[in-house]
Amino acid sequence: MSQDDGDTSTSRRVGASDEGADPAMGAGAGAGQVLADTKMVALDIVVPLYNEERSVESFHQNLMRVTTPLAFDVMIYYVNDGSTDATATILGKIAGADGRVVVIELSRNFGHQAALSAGLDVTKGDVVITIDGDGQHPPELIPEMLRLFENGYDVVLTQRNDVRQPAFLKRSTSAVFYWLLSRVSDTNIIPGCADYRLLSRGVVASLKEMPEYHRFLRGMVAWLGYRTVILPYSEQPRIAGRSKYSLKKMIGLAMDAVFSFSLVPLRLGIALGACFLLLALFEVVYVLWYWLRGEQQLLVPGWSSLMFMILLAGGTTMVVTGFIGIYVGYIFQEVKHRPVYVVKSLRGPGSRRDEGAPGPEA
Ligand code: UDP
Ligand code: MG
Repeated sequence: MSQDDGDTSTSRRVGASDEGADPAMGAGAGAGQVLADTKMVALDIVVPLYNEERSVESFHQNLMRVTTPLAFDVMIYYVNDGSTDATATILGKIAGADGRVVVIELSRNFGHQAALSAGLDVTKGDVVITIDGDGQHPPELIPEMLRLFENGYDVVLTQRNDVRQPAFLKRSTSAVFYWLLSRVSDTNIIPGCADYRLLSRGVVASLKEMPEYHRFLRGMVAWLGYRTVILPYSEQPRIAGRSKYSLKKMIGLAMDAVFSFSLVPLRLGIALGACFLLLALFEVVYVLWYWLRGEQQLLVPGWSSLMFMILLAGGTTMVVTGFIGIYVGYIFQEVKHRPVYVVKSLRGPGSRRDEGAPGPEA
């Protein structure tokens, strides 16, 4: 079911004076209202977890405190992304005690974006929220996100607005990254947006039709369009532990964003190459000029300038070849059509999911 009303480019920020708030779903043909008239709207929450043994219990408590009073049929999907600590055991206990919890165990650590995809693929609810399990995304935002959904938005993005959180290094690298991305990508990806967002069933269905291996969900959701609104939030301190995004993972995500959303690096190579060709042309004209005037004896073949040119030209060729290599690598990975993740097991009763264990459509 798609709530796409054709307004695919609308992106709006929620401000203090946001009008149209109607939690009781009174007037207005909100996406949720239509559903609420017939049955209770099913809300699925996807939580990726990697070595979050110290956070997961209190995260779950906070999440349930916020979601239990909601007039939605709530299901929580914890995706254990190959944790090597006690996360799996704790999740087993949580699922055993709560019929609304489903645990998806991946066979190894596939990374945040793959874990999110694994969760999104098994959801069946009318509306899906993805949220990190380390406590940095305040669940208190969920009622507001749902209100916006009921007002007809298909995508509710959240954007960090706090200056204190996260740490300076993360903030500055994030700023540089989004600046670069906005230069090189045709897709409008909003800076500081987290993977904490609400998606209507229509958007989740569209995402499932994007089987690409290199997944940068922020960009993919932006690329899809739909009626979108941005909700600012202040990031909370982690409940425990530290970032599970190693430098390697962060660079990987940045590369996925740049190379799967932009052809600019390839074009950059062409531009660089063209500059050097032009330079060579100038040199020919320069040399010819001496010959035409019969002063060719004045031309001292300079070893250093020659070397300089060779090195520069060689360097450019290598850079360009490197860019092409990266794209070839990406193409190689895409044509293999490997699944983005592998589900080892899936447990949890699932009130609405009894009809058959949901599995990824890899
Ligand atoms: N995570 C994951 N797989 C990974 C890395 C992270 O599932 O390989 C989870 C992690 O447990 C957390 C969320 O993804 O719930 C975001 O990670 P983290 O909070 O470490 O990222 P940061 O806040 O540093 O951006
Ligand atoms: Mg985090």
